[in-house]
Amino acid sequence: MKIARLAALIALPLAAAAQAADPPKLVVVISVDQFSADLFTQYRQHFDGGLERLSRGAVFPAGYQSHAATETCPGHSTILTGSRPARTGIIANNWYGFRARPSHPNLYCAEDERVPGSTHRKYTASTYHLRVPALGDHMKRADPRSRVAVASGKDRSAMMMGGYGPDERWWWEGDKFINPGAARRPEALDEVNRDIAAALAEPRAARDLPGLCEPRSRSIAIQDSTKSVGEYRFARPAGDSNAFKISPDLDQATIDLAAGLRREMKLGEGPATDLLILGLSATDYVGHSYGTEGAEMCIQLMALDKALGEFFRKLDQTGIDYSVLLTADHGGHDIPERYREQAITDAIRADAALDIEKMGPAIGKKLGLSGPILFGEYVSGDMYIDPKLTAAQRARVLREAVRAYGAHPNVARVITRAELLAAPRPSGPPDTWSLLDRAKASFDPERSGDFVVFLKPRVTPIYNAGGSYVATHGSPWDYDRRVPILYWRKGIVPFEQPLAVETVDILPTLAATIGVAIPPGSIDGKCLDLDEGPANSCR
Ligand code: ZN
Repeated sequence: MKIARLAALIALPLAAAAQAADPPKLVVVISVDQFSADLFTQYRQHFDGGLERLSRGAVFPAGYQSHAATETCPGHSTILTGSRPARTGIIANNWYGFRARPSHPNLYCAEDERVPGSTHRKYTASTYHLRVPALGDHMKRADPRSRVAVASGKDRSAMMMGGYGPDERWWWEGDKFINPGAARRPEALDEVNRDIAAALAEPRAARDLPGLCEPRSRSIAIQDSTKSVGEYRFARPAGDSNAFKISPDLDQATIDLAAGLRREMKLGEGPATDLLILGLSATDYVGHSYGTEGAEMCIQLMALDKALGEFFRKLDQTGIDYSVLLTADHGGHDIPERYREQAITDAIRADAALDIEKMGPAIGKKLGLSGPILFGEYVSGDMYIDPKLTAAQRARVLREAVRAYGAHPNVARVITRAELLAAPRPSGPPDTWSLLDRAKASFDPERSGDFVVFLKPRVTPIYNAGGSYVATHGSPWDYDRRVPILYWRKGIVPFEQPLAVETVDILPTLAATIGVAIPPGSIDGKCLDLDEGPANSCR
C-alpha cells in the first residue's frame, strides 16, 4: 500500500501534487433532483460524459438523505448546510402553521408568509424558513471576496442550497428563469431566456432513442386511467413550456445559465474560492411524469450525462482549478404497474380511503365531531389535528387516528408527536436507523404535525394517477433516502466507499477543502476524507 502510494506520488507531475494541497478556485455543487442511488447504479456503466468523469473521483454510492420526509425542500436543505431537517427547520415541502398564518395555515417551505396577501400558491420565494446558513454564507463569512451564484430548475432548491446571501440566484418559473427581487439582471440571464423563447417558438421533434434505452421503451398502462407511459421521446408542440420543463431541455438551459453566470462573474478567477450551484430538476419531473424505469428516464439520464460532460469540458478550457460535488435531494420509486411486471408483485397504489379528506371526516363522524378534524397532504406524512378543537377532543382524535391509520393494511407505522419529543437524536450509520430515528431527523417541534403516518414499502401514495404525476418519492424507505455523492477534482486519486454516509456530511467535507471553519456543534454532518491514502483532506 505504502509503496504503491509512493509510486503514485512520484508519477504525479509536481504541479498536480502541489495543487492538491491548495483550495480549488471554484467549487461547483450540483443537485440532480430525484437521482436515486438505484438509478446511478443502473446507469453508471453506460455513462461516458460528465457522470462518467465524476464516477472516477471519490464515489459514495450510498449517500443518505437520512430523514423520513424525503421531499425536495428538506433534501435540498441538507446538502449545503450540514444539517438534517430537524435542524434546518425544513421538515417537508409544505406544512401547517396555524399560528404563523391563521388565515392560510398551509405554508410552502420556501415562502415568506409575512409578505402581506401571500398564500402557499401565491408567494414570494424566500429563505425565511431556513434556520441555518449554507456553504456560500460560511464562505463569505470566512472571506467576503468569495462569490456565490445559483441556477436552478426550482425556487426551493435555489433557496435551500444558495443560503441567505448569494450574489446571483435564478430559478425556473413558467417559461423562463426569474428572480423578482434581484437588484440587476445579468446579461447571461437575458441570453439564456432569449434562447428558451426561441426554442419554445418551434415544435420539438422526438429525441433519438439510444440503443441502451430500446428495451425500456414499452408502453405500460396506468391503472384506473386511460394513461400509459414508457415510450415518450419528448416531442412537443410549439409553446408548450410545461413539456419543456419535463424534459432534458430544462437541465440544458440551467447548465447554460450556470455557465453564463460563471463567465460573466468570472467565478474561479478572483482572489478567493467561488461557489457555483446548479439545481437540475428535469430528472425529478421526468420521474414523476413517466416513472423511473422507462425510456423517458433513460433518455433523460443519457442527455444529462452528455450535457454535464460538455459543461466540464468548457470549464477545463478556462484552466480554472475547480472541484465538483454532485448529489441528489432524494431518491425515487417507479410506477407500481411496471414493478408488478418486473418481479415486484407486491407494489401497489395506496387505498383511496386513506386520503386525509376522507379519514378526517370519518374520524369526526365516529367521535361525533364536525369539521375537517385533520390537516395534512394526501395519505401519509405529517398530520395535524384541528387546533380549534378542545384539548380533550384533540386527545380523542389522536387516539382514534392512531388506531384507524394503524389498522389499515397499507400503513407501516404511525408515530405521535409525544414519541418524537421523547426520542433521542439519531446516531450511527443511517442505513441502520429505525423508523423513529428517521422521523426524528425530520421533526421540528414548532412545525411538525401531531402524528406522522408511514406507508409500507412499495406502496405508492398517488392512488389516482390519472392526473399529471404517476410516480413519487417522500417515503422513509431506502429507495427514497439513498443517493449518490460524487466528488471530483483534477488529479484526484479515485476511490469508492460503499458504506453509508450522509448528505449532511457534504458541507464539512467541502468546507475543509477550502479551509473554511464551521463552528463546532452547529451541524449534524462530519467531514469525509477525500484522500484515498494516509493523507486526510479533513485536516
Ligand atoms: Zn426533489
